[in-house]
Amino acid sequence: MSSDIETQDRKALLELQLKRLQSMLGPILQNNAFYKQKLNDAGITRPEDIRTVADYQRLPFTSKTELSTDQIAHPPYGTNLTGSQDQFVRVHQTSGTTGQPLRCMDTDESWTWFAQCWKRVYQGAGVIAADRIFFAFSFGPFIGFWTALEGARLLGALSLSGGSMTSIQRLQAIVDHQATVLVCTPTYALYLAEIAEAEGIDLVNGSIQTTIHAGEPGAGLPATRQRIEQAWGAKCYDHAGASEVGAWGFECLERNGMHVNESEFIAEVIDPETGGLAEEGELVVTNLGRVGMPVIRYRTGDRVRLNKEACACGSCYLRLDGGVVGRVDDAIIIRGVNVYPSSIENVVRGFAEVTEFAVDVYRRNEMADMEIRLEIQGDSPNVVADAVGQKIRHMLGIRARVQTVPNDTLPRFELKAKRFIDHRNTDS
Ligand SMILES: [Zn+2]
Repeated sequence: MSSDIETQDRKALLELQLKRLQSMLGPILQNNAFYKQKLNDAGITRPEDIRTVADYQRLPFTSKTELSTDQIAHPPYGTNLTGSQDQFVRVHQTSGTTGQPLRCMDTDESWTWFAQCWKRVYQGAGVIAADRIFFAFSFGPFIGFWTALEGARLLGALSLSGGSMTSIQRLQAIVDHQATVLVCTPTYALYLAEIAEAEGIDLVNGSIQTTIHAGEPGAGLPATRQRIEQAWGAKCYDHAGASEVGAWGFECLERNGMHVNESEFIAEVIDPETGGLAEEGELVVTNLGRVGMPVIRYRTGDRVRLNKEACACGSCYLRLDGGVVGRVDDAIIIRGVNVYPSSIENVVRGFAEVTEFAVDVYRRNEMADMEIRLEIQGDSPNVVADAVGQKIRHMLGIRARVQTVPNDTLPRFELKAKRFIDHRNTDS
């Protein structure tokens, strides 16, 4: 447990959150053109206007589109800056997979805050100063690489950069340095394990004890988690965050859902259609330590489900079942059934023989049609493929065409995996 507030009642926590929000609203209402306008339009002109949870819930939502539109209109950094540009020490950008990359700036103060949030992620997973952490990242302009590294420094652990290395070089570095913690995407952990097996490197009895993952829902999916743990002989932890928000989620040793780090973030779950509070829906977050470029009631686009039961670890922080289970906009309707890519992955990963997969959705005769391609190890790939199809029908209530493809023909991913391709808007 990292802070006392975490074990107190939620009333004390909410009071702390509102106090921190008020103190950041002072400089924001004075010096941040983007939020000054937005909050003034909503009738909020002084920090004292936000005293209660009800006041908070009257704050307008912020969307990613608003932030991007603002940066396009006011290049290169937009107007969501509190104070002058010379106060900032870091700039990063999102991958831009869903449009224009968003640039995110940090002051020295907010950079340290971001790193502290990462430190909490390590502490949740039981990582200590004596650990040696290997980062299987490219170390490009994506903020997660660098804040994860900074968080490790605050913890006092030894950091090993895996930038500009091949997968074999990374595996060798893990062995040479006897790294104890691996940080990467769930997909890449599985890919590294595949390479290790081909190279005769024994990971199960190797030095890695803990793996921490982000960037995809995988580590929160029981079947994918089990695959990673078996391949590495390690305990697997899920983490979530976003460039424009911060590292908001961590798993505790119970590994029974993801906690929101509520001393640093105010979180709500809303119905994405109505904007009203919901048990399951879109995560909305305010970051409390990033005054230089804040987000207030920000619609993350992450689909989550609240678990209201108290966690056995003693934390009063919100807990999300299975972490981020997908994006609110990535559900596709297959013959009247809502299907999420993460549900498909959970079924497919339950089959040990499947090493890689890809899902394509087409429109046939005005109906959505799903095809799953599988790489399967072993003597009877067709039997496994049939079983996958049956299980998808049984678990998700949809029929998918399942076929096998030769091994090593599907793409492997180092960062966010793109296994799910919807062709319906691109094909004629
Ligand atoms: Zn817990």
